Amino acid sequence: MSDDAFALWAKRGVVSLSDLYIDGKFASFEQLTQRYNIPRIHFYRYLQLRNFVSSNLDSFPLSPSISLLESIYKHKAINTQAISIIYGLLDSHNYTSLELLKSKWEMDLGGTILEETWCKIIQGIFSSSICAKHAVIQFKIVHRLHWSKVRLSKIKAGLDPTCDRCGLAPASLLHMFWSCSKLYTFWNSIFETFSKVSGKAVEPSPFIALFGVVPIDSAPNRRDINMFAFCSLLARRLILFKWKDANPPTYNHWVREVLYHLKLEKIRYTLRGSTGKFFDIWQPFLSFVEDFEADSVLTSNGLAESSVKVVKGLMKKAHDGKEDFHHSPMIYRSAPLQNSLSPAQILMGRRLRTNLPMHENLLTPKGAHKIKIDKEKDKEKQKTATRQKSKETARIKAWRTSQDQRSCDRHLESAGFSAKRGGTTLL
Ligand SMILES: [Zn+2]
Repeated sequence: MSDDAFALWAKRGVVSLSDLYIDGKFASFEQLTQRYNIPRIHFYRYLQLRNFVSSNLDSFPLSPSISLLESIYKHKAINTQAISIIYGLLDSHNYTSLELLKSKWEMDLGGTILEETWCKIIQGIFSSSICAKHAVIQFKIVHRLHWSKVRLSKIKAGLDPTCDRCGLAPASLLHMFWSCSKLYTFWNSIFETFSKVSGKAVEPSPFIALFGVVPIDSAPNRRDINMFAFCSLLARRLILFKWKDANPPTYNHWVREVLYHLKLEKIRYTLRGSTGKFFDIWQPFLSFVEDFEADSVLTSNGLAESSVKVVKGLMKKAHDGKEDFHHSPMIYRSAPLQNSLSPAQILMGRRLRTNLPMHENLLTPKGAHKIKIDKEKDKEKQKTATRQKSKETARIKAWRTSQDQRSCDRHLESAGFSAKRGGTTLL
């Protein structure tokens, strides 16, 4: 305190509010003067403090219970046991905040979360995957630490809380992870996969989607519980990757992610010395993915077939119309698609010149004027270089001629002739 009177109080031992309490009760001025030798003229300061404490602490005049932070702060031991004492304090702390957390999720989900399910949710933070990063992701989700647009709009006035993906509802945490209409196909495909792999119908549930836990009323086996926890965590991770994106993650991306991260699960079982158990749990999923990939290949072949069909159609049309077939692919490539761009534009970035009349500007690709300017600059550079070179050559020629003349003169002189440089007479 900057006040001189309170500075004196601090010197005499009144450092914190807890020093104002004697035997668990707010001390009278008499008691304080006796204990700390405070001057009697500071009575007004005492009244100020008492008023502040009585208006801010509900427990007044009794001593308030010590908070966790206060007990850690009060612990001044700087020795080897300090960390273990602080750890003990943190460990023994009553986690009342989790109740608040639970009630927030209950409010979002519109129902009560059973205590047993809530315990599973908390345990699932650490047991869903052996990867520490995955555990942090799940921890943040359960503890509602991600910034939704609804939360941001409460901090920043004027920010629109509407979801960027669907544009239909406020982007709360539940909406972002589960109820957004744009996520419907994504989650539906994942739950269909769960049903096919587990061999029984798995109804889409926000508990599996958000926390990877199965509601207590259904009784799946251990294999399914592990699969739901791990696979749904990877789905939530993908949603977080695309948190601000207008497009939701895709099912194919999720399958690839699960296959990529399954090696982590294999490590988990190998460390326990039970690799066989890994295959017991994950073989149905791996078999399903093999079939899924085979289907994808077939779909790809179908695409090739359809391209062949298009070309065949073009050939037939050209033949029937007695036209040159070589024009047909050109017309096909220059016809605009649904996105208003032709295949040629997508491939080369410019339109093709076809048999249809077209404005010259449309045929000029973007950036063409830059190429023209660059070419003109190159030409100019070349011209300057040629000019300089010819000047240099002329100078060298002149020098050589003068050298030749001198050597000729010296030769004639040595032969007994006298030469008149620049003249016409040789003697
Ligand atoms: Zn949405």
